[in-house]
Amino acid sequence: MKSKLEKIHKEALKALKDAKDSDTLEKLERQFLGRKAELARIAKDIKNIAKEQRPVIGKLINDVKRDISAIIQEKKQGKEFLAKGRPPSGWDYTLPAIAPNVGHLHPITQFLETIEDIFIKMGYEVVEGPELESQKYNFDLLNVPEDHPSRDIQDTFYVDKKDARNNSYVLRTHTSPVQIRAMKTRKPPVRLIAPGRVYRNERTDAGHETNFYQCEGLVIDRNIRITDLIGTLELFIKRLYGDNVNIRVRPHFYPFTEPSIDIDMSCLLCAGEGCPFCKRSGWIETLGAGMVHPNVLKNMKVDPKEYSGFAFGLGIDRFMMLYYQVNDIRLSYSGDLRFIEQF
Ligand SMILES: [Zn+2]
Repeated sequence: MKSKLEKIHKEALKALKDAKDSDTLEKLERQFLGRKAELARIAKDIKNIAKEQRPVIGKLINDVKRDISAIIQEKKQGKEFLAKGRPPSGWDYTLPAIAPNVGHLHPITQFLETIEDIFIKMGYEVVEGPELESQKYNFDLLNVPEDHPSRDIQDTFYVDKKDARNNSYVLRTHTSPVQIRAMKTRKPPVRLIAPGRVYRNERTDAGHETNFYQCEGLVIDRNIRITDLIGTLELFIKRLYGDNVNIRVRPHFYPFTEPSIDIDMSCLLCAGEGCPFCKRSGWIETLGAGMVHPNVLKNMKVDPKEYSGFAFGLGIDRFMMLYYQVNDIRLSYSGDLRFIEQF
């Protein structure tokens, strides 16, 4: 059987040596490697030979197959002809090469990195937390008790089972719980941002998705005032969108900050004149913020008499959409290459 295989090998090498065009190569490929080839028949017969011989013959069959197949592949690609300095007929080596398909970061990730860069330059550290979060961290410690109406606004996906300490879990509705987690291992002064994916039980439309990205910010130190907060966010927005953008501060309510504010910026499309994009108001809502509520500071084991701080949360999808003027949040999660390849 061994000599038979060697004979096939020799025959194949000889036939391949003279093969010049792809038709001949394909014919030889079928003849030596096809289902009806002699090699295939020998491989089938292997069960009839002595047991201890089987691995030796099996290996030989594979070696012969691999060698023949490699030569055919090389010939098909014209490598052999190039090595000899003689291009195969029909081989135009002046044609441009086929560019490899190179991927890139998702626009949301790109935008997230831009935001991180701005805050890192202002001395912030970047912290992450889990997406499956205990209700205690997601709501309770952020001053949102169980019967608080704002829990309804942040309806999410609840997990049935509890852990050994009787904690219930949810897919986090915001990145704010990372504040509490981060403060378990830190003492003021702190300056951090916590970007990440969050979840809501939403009916999806152009402006809403069941999962999206947020970035939380937290600063705690002595004598932190609301003017520090407004100044920081104004600088951030101007770094991101340019110095021509104006901001506007409106009072708002969040359970975890007191006082709480919303920050609007002048519309990028009409520069404040009013257009359909900004619903004719000239302003676009951008983020929510406020001074950290004393109860939340206490939950972080920080003395509210000694320290104060501010926190803010921004929707990364929304910022990205404003920046690139994307009109449907669902595009980001569609996996549609026609969208992704534009960034
Ligand atoms: Zn506008």
